[in-house]
Amino acid sequence: MKTIAVLTSGGDAPGMNAAIRAVIRYGIHKGCKVYGISRGYKGLIEGDLAEVDLRSACDIIHRGGTILRTARCEEFMTEEGRRQAATVLRVFGVDGLVVIGGDGTFKGARELAKLGVNVVGIPGTIDNDLPYTDYTIGFDTAINTVLDAIGKIRDTSSSHERISIIEVMGRNCGDIALYAGLAGGAEEVVIPEKGQDMEKIFRELLESKSRGKKQSIIILSEGVGEAHELEKQIKEKTKMDSRSTVLGHIQRGGSPSAFDRILATKMGATAVELLIQGKTARVIGIRNNMIFDMDVEEALGVIKKFDSETYELIDILAN
Ligand code: ATP
Repeated sequence: MKTIAVLTSGGDAPGMNAAIRAVIRYGIHKGCKVYGISRGYKGLIEGDLAEVDLRSACDIIHRGGTILRTARCEEFMTEEGRRQAATVLRVFGVDGLVVIGGDGTFKGARELAKLGVNVVGIPGTIDNDLPYTDYTIGFDTAINTVLDAIGKIRDTSSSHERISIIEVMGRNCGDIALYAGLAGGAEEVVIPEKGQDMEKIFRELLESKSRGKKQSIIILSEGVGEAHELEKQIKEKTKMDSRSTVLGHIQRGGSPSAFDRILATKMGATAVELLIQGKTARVIGIRNNMIFDMDVEEALGVIKKFDSETYELIDILAN
């Protein structure tokens, strides 16, 4: 019998619980003993893990956040911290570890593998900033949350004939802004990949006003600037009434979408399969609707190709 353990690390993302459920239940189905580790690498270093059973995964598939909780851990950035983590896994007889998180979590997994730990990573982050995979768990739910907010803000901004700036998460990756902007019919998206050409935005707002358009939605990615600042500049440069909304952490919460639950469930089961086969230093992804795995180092080296077609389409349809 194999013993496997699962943790969630970095920022939480809707769908992490569905992945945890799949690891627990698929692992037990395959005859494994399964441990749940609390608070990511921090809990691992502290030996905060307990065996889980089929009932531990009850009633969690629809819940946002992570029942294992999550943390960021400075100590794990040191060789000493990681050696302590590897020792804890040895003491508990863990043969394989599943980590669910973003690029930082994967870097940690790569280092743990170098210490002889069998580890497999599942991409869980709302930012969709892991270029080796088409989608990360949580991204679909997050853009649906943003879409819901766009719809509500659109109601009030069209009633008042205003410009609405909506600041969304994503750090250095503009995917949340780009795809929520496309789906929400935004007039402008301001994303790190394209930088900040404010003069273009002011010009286009004035042009659309002259065509009789009375309201516009601008989606601003947090990696580019602040919504309040953009609101001030628009008022100054265009004399148009504008309001800004920072969506913040509502984007991280909520019940996962069907897409995220399906993705998380398939990835969770695949992670267990890989560990049973004795694989290590692998991360799971989805490309062209196919689940696949690849080496963690290779995955971390993949450069994101900017989706300029989508960006240009938003511009064309904004008329
Ligand atoms: P998100 O994208 O949601 O922020 P993340 O996994 O990228 O998720 P981070 O805070 O960057 O979140 O990383 C999570 C944890 O992984 C860190 O707190 C740290 O313990 C570990 N980690 C990050 N980078 C490294 C690294 N280079 N080497 C070893 N461990 C790392």
